[in-house]
Order: sequence, then C-alpha cells, then structure tokens
Amino acid sequence: MKLKTALLSVAAALMIFSNPISAKDLKIGMSIDDLRLERWQKDRDIFVAKAKALGADVFVQSANGDASAQISQIENMINRNVDVLVIIPFNGEVLGNVIDEAKREGIKVLAYDRLINNADLDFYVSFDNEKVGELQAQSILEQKPQGNYFLMGGSPVDNNAKLFRKGQMKVLQPHIDSGKIKVVGDQWVDSWLAEKALQIMENALTANKNNIDAVVASNDATAGGAIQALSAQGLSGKVAISGQDADLAAIKRIVEGTQTMTVYKPITTLADKAAEIAVTLAKGDKPQTNSELNNGLKTVPAYLLDPIVVNKDNIESTVIKDGFHTKDAIYK
Ligand code: BGC
Repeated sequence: MKLKTALLSVAAALMIFSNPISAKDLKIGMSIDDLRLERWQKDRDIFVAKAKALGADVFVQSANGDASAQISQIENMINRNVDVLVIIPFNGEVLGNVIDEAKREGIKVLAYDRLINNADLDFYVSFDNEKVGELQAQSILEQKPQGNYFLMGGSPVDNNAKLFRKGQMKVLQPHIDSGKIKVVGDQWVDSWLAEKALQIMENALTANKNNIDAVVASNDATAGGAIQALSAQGLSGKVAISGQDADLAAIKRIVEGTQTMTVYKPITTLADKAAEIAVTLAKGDKPQTNSELNNGLKTVPAYLLDPIVVNKDNIESTVIKDGFHTKDAIYK
C-alpha cells in the first residue's frame, strides 16, 4: 500500500515536471492579409486542417488589405494567449511593434509566405520568391525575345513583390542592356487587385499606342486584370503575359491562349510545412531550415520551397496530377 502511494506521487511529480505542453494544448493565431484572393483561402484551409491533425487549435482572422486592422487582429490574438502567431502580412514594414508585444508574452512568431521586415521573427516559411520572378521573366523572354516590355509589379508593401522584381530583373537586365527589349512602363499594383491592374494596363496601352509586346505581371490576379484591358484592344493572345499562383481562371486562360504561363506553388506543401513548423516552435523546439534571410533586424532562419512553371504543355503533369485543379474544372 505504501509502495503504491509512493509510486503514485512519483508519477504525479513526473507529470508536473516533465514538459507539460502536448500539441493538444497548443493555440495558433493565424493572421491573413487578404482572403479576397483565391490562393489565401487554400492556404487557410490546408493550414488549419494540418494544424488540427497535429492537435493544435487555430484561430483565423483576415485583414483584407488593411494594415491597422491587421495590427488589432494580432493584438486580439495576443490577448487570447496563443502560443504561436502565423502571419501573412499585408504591409511587411509595420508589424515590428506588435511582434515585440507578442515576444514579450513569450509567443513565437512565424512569417508565412511573406517576410516581415525589422521584426523579431522566429522563422520564415515560403517559396523561393526570387526564383519565381526569374521563371516569369524567362518564360516571357522565350515567347518574346525582343520588343516593348511592360513591368507590372505587385503590392509595393509586400516584400515578395520586391523579390519577384529582383528575380525578373536578373533575367531581363542583360537583354535590356543589349537593346533587344525596351521597358516602356513600370507600375506596382496596390493590394494586388485585378481592377487596379486593369486600369494600369489601359493607361499603359494608351500611352504606348498599343505598342506593347510583353507584360511581366507578377501574379494571376493582376494578369487577369491586364488581360481584360488587352482583350478590349483585341490584343489578348498576341501579347505575352506571365502570372503566378496557378489560379483556376489563369489555367483556363493558358488553355485558351490569352496568358503565357503561371507559377505553380504547391500550397499544400507550404501550408503543411508551416503547420509543422508552428507546432515545433510552440513546443520550444527548432524547426529544420534550408535557408535564411536578413529582415533588417536579424537573420531569420527560413525554409524555402521550389516554385514550378506551368504553361500549356505541362498542365496535366503539374496542377492536375497534384489534384490542385480537376481536369473537369479546367476544361469545362
Ligand atoms: C504571394 C503571391 C500572391 C500575392 C497576392 C504574394 O505575396 O506570394 O502568391 O499572388 O501575394 O496575394
């Protein structure tokens, strides 16, 4: 009897002093820039499902392109005592203070897809975004090795938009220098919105008397807006234009020949990986890294995945094979 009591108290002590965090107790706050765009809904669904499978609860909020709304949503998550914040920033320049608040409360912070500058991040998970830009420019150059190029950047406050441009210019600069291609315009699209891209493209066509051979668009939403403007002038299908995200609408445009390519970033791989990293951080462990990036404040450990070009020749072996889109949805 005495022995049993003693064993029970040893067991109780072990329960108290061994690491008390099991994945079941974990709370994750996911702060999303903008659920109005197709891709982020996928990110949310897959991330939440994976985190749940790992035993964590996820509380999601979307700021829909509003920097101060995102800050208050993050504050709200801090007040809910989350263990980890997973942030897809709208403005990657303004979250340093609220992230400091989180860190004071012992909350780990993971930047998802977009880097947050000048902030005390624990980790960054994304695709190789400079490579995305290189793939876009290479595909457009193959189609239009010379002529007038229009550059359509993404949101000026999204660090990714700068990395895409960096990759694009790496490929384009030698051809600009040799005079083969001429950049006839360069604009950035606020909040990555299609309707803004449409207006920008209309103005660019007017300014250049429709004399544009290629558009280096940084994602599918903006490509969609630009293609609407090209169509109105009877130019869609004639002008080479890039994209990114493998949105269903973009894949359909590639099939019908109005968009040259998109960059497919397997969201399942990113969201699953991010959920694993979030849970690892919450347990106080170190996630596996394969890269690092300096965000102005510190060198942030990172895990970067490979982006994939999709054009009319490989739709079947990429997005369909992965189940990202069904054949029916694309061809109906
Ligand atoms: C993402 C792109 C996305 C864009 C607009 C970027 O940061 O990397 O995949 O199209 O934001 O939401």
